[in-house]
Amino acid sequence: MTGRHETPILVTRSSMPPLEEYVEMLKPIWDSCWLTNMGEYHEEFKRQLKGYLGTSGLELFVNGHTALEMSIQALNLTEEPPSDGAQAPWERVARTPGDWKEAGEVITTPFSFSSTTHAIVRNGLKPVFWDINDRDYTMDAGQIEALITERTRAIVPVHVYGNLCDVERIQEIADRHHLKVIYDAAHAFGEALGGTGVANFGDISMFSFHATKVFHSIEGGAAAFRDPGLADRLYQIKNFGITGYESVEYVGANGKMNEFQAAMGLCNLRYLDREIGKRRRLAERYRERLSGVSGIRLCEQRNDVTYNYAYMPVVFDGFRADRDQIFARLAEHNIHARKYFYPCINSYECYRGLFDPEATPVARRIASQVLTLPLYAELPLETVDEICDLILA
Ligand SMILES: *Cc1c(COP(=O)(O)O)cnc(C)c1O
Repeated sequence: MTGRHETPILVTRSSMPPLEEYVEMLKPIWDSCWLTNMGEYHEEFKRQLKGYLGTSGLELFVNGHTALEMSIQALNLTEEPPSDGAQAPWERVARTPGDWKEAGEVITTPFSFSSTTHAIVRNGLKPVFWDINDRDYTMDAGQIEALITERTRAIVPVHVYGNLCDVERIQEIADRHHLKVIYDAAHAFGEALGGTGVANFGDISMFSFHATKVFHSIEGGAAAFRDPGLADRLYQIKNFGITGYESVEYVGANGKMNEFQAAMGLCNLRYLDREIGKRRRLAERYRERLSGVSGIRLCEQRNDVTYNYAYMPVVFDGFRADRDQIFARLAEHNIHARKYFYPCINSYECYRGLFDPEATPVARRIASQVLTLPLYAELPLETVDEICDLILA
């Protein structure tokens, strides 16, 4: 076993395309002086992503969070049932967390990145948390129906760690109760279920192209959808709600992706399959070394899913060392795993007193036991072995 690493090993490292390729792509931007506002690279990136994801509808955004927040807005979930007078926009949107009298409800998971719930709350909607299952930490679809009330508008499940939700069951429930389904697919770029691309589930799927994700455009995101009517609305909302030269129909904001981001995305897309292949080999090594060890649990993998190997979460449940001890042991060697996702969203300070974290006991327990190990294309296989040696020591 080697000693402490000189340079830290982080949980992830951004994939970088060959520098010359990116520099080459900058020239047309200089020639055209067109830096943002749906330029040529933006349009080309959108076209290629539709192909890669196998979806007919897609809009690009400056980041994944904005894509999610604006997707929720585009589905008009905040709209109250028709009443006498028209509602002022601030009555619909500007609610402080907790001020949810009359607000529409959205069923979601507390076991995710903060963005998922914040996107709901920032739309003036009330999040209603349901627990995750113990096998792959996605929402426990079998129980969702118990939470549905006459105020429920949508379900926002997360394909957490790239583990695909029970999409069929969720759609069935949504159809029965006329609810929208918006997937936080930030972890699931390029994945498929039985050959069907993940972008084809629900009403909208949000992808994040943040620098730390499997595929990135520095910052960036997309919303994929099937209803062609959503294309214009998403486009307009991300462009300040402008619908024509002299008309502004929505309270939009600025969610546009610029040309430098799109150029990075186009470069990275060329290497993506190779990067995922490298991740796969490393993930398989982790699994070889850690599966079957008493007290260590790995996510259940399904044969019908094409994975992207975005993350390597490991649950320490009755192992001789607990999660925090393993975390500290790795840190002593300058290896920095992350406690994704701890704490659960329903125990954040900004939501204090509004939710009962005990109401989602599986999420609470997994959050205290899970550690996400370093995984990125250029991580040496020997480092994976070293991390496993340290865990098993
Ligand atoms: C990264 C991430 C987001 C936000 O995406 P950004 O591109 O960073 O804005 C949302 N949800 C989940 C689950 C994420 O991991």
